[in-house]
Amino acid sequence: MIQTISMERTRAPKTKPEMDSLGFGNVFTDHMFLMDYEPVRGWHQPRIVPYQPISLDPSARVFHYGQSVFEGLKAYRTQDRKILLFRPEMNIRRLNRSCERLSIPPLDEEMVLEALKQLIRTDREWVPGEPGSSLYVRPFVIATEPALGVAPSRQYRFIIILSPVGSYYSEGIHPVSIHVESEYVRAVAGGVGHAKTAGNYAASLKAQEEASRNGCAQVLWLDGVHRKYVEEVGSMNVFFRIGDTVVTPSLTGSLLEGIVRDSVIRMLRHWDVAVEERMISIGEVVEAHREGFLQEIFGTGTAAVISPVGELHWQGEKLAIGGGGTGELSAKIYETLTGIQTGRLPDPFQWMMELPPA
Ligand SMILES: *Cc1c(COP(=O)(O)O)cnc(C)c1O
Repeated sequence: MIQTISMERTRAPKTKPEMDSLGFGNVFTDHMFLMDYEPVRGWHQPRIVPYQPISLDPSARVFHYGQSVFEGLKAYRTQDRKILLFRPEMNIRRLNRSCERLSIPPLDEEMVLEALKQLIRTDREWVPGEPGSSLYVRPFVIATEPALGVAPSRQYRFIIILSPVGSYYSEGIHPVSIHVESEYVRAVAGGVGHAKTAGNYAASLKAQEEASRNGCAQVLWLDGVHRKYVEEVGSMNVFFRIGDTVVTPSLTGSLLEGIVRDSVIRMLRHWDVAVEERMISIGEVVEAHREGFLQEIFGTGTAAVISPVGELHWQGEKLAIGGGGTGELSAKIYETLTGIQTGRLPDPFQWMMELPPA
């Protein structure tokens, strides 16, 4: 059931930033969406209000036990000024799967989609049209009950904020160096690795910091049991092109089921490229490199879309991947996917949802 969303417009619209020099997630729009949860009432009082700080009791459970889940998706401006959302229903479904794992009561998926649309429509002037730019949409849920006992919260708040973001690749898509992480792990099966929950990111920061100290942009995560099977790259899913086959780790429970991952798999199959979802060990990757079959490695995620890997740092060795430049397949996927997202290319998969005009 869709509840009516109340609206309080800002009386002090902000000055918009220069849309051709945006970073990532530093600037926020004029409005935000809020909705609260309490037992008996359930999710209630959906509302759009001016973007502003929120006030929480210091004992709010989210601060202590991390009951918090989030999503990330983008709205794009087409050349003819339409606004398109990329597979938003997938993000909303995943948000509910994350909620389920964190013992957070589920949201009405139609209601969330309506909230997304109304909020973006309210702040539509903030959707940038510069090449590579978009409006990043961040829905999240936090446990707000003021209580220190370790138990699922009985109160929550669901919030959506919007941030115009610039091109991830201001100097064009380019490969990065990756540190193969053999000490820290991101997640284990049975844990919360498949949920988009705050703690996963807190746990990943130290490895990330050490990797960047060693000149690497990201870490390649190995599984927590054997420290052997590849799971993800940074906070992206990962793909290997070995010979004529593309391999991506299967969803074993410890990795995040990316929407770009799913889209890339579908696109490759549409192009008749063989794709395997299976466990792949770092040994197999290194072996394929030695034998000359490892053509490309790339990460996938909403922020960068495709992030090619130019170099793997593993046990003191530096393996140059595919000559160091952006691989042919990585470039084709990037061009096609961003083309579909911005309406420059046809959308044979019906992934894009047009925001109805006001
Ligand atoms: C969000 C995320 C991804 C990518 O998911 P997309 O839906 O493709 O953006 C991959 N791994 C982790 C850990 C993530 O948090």
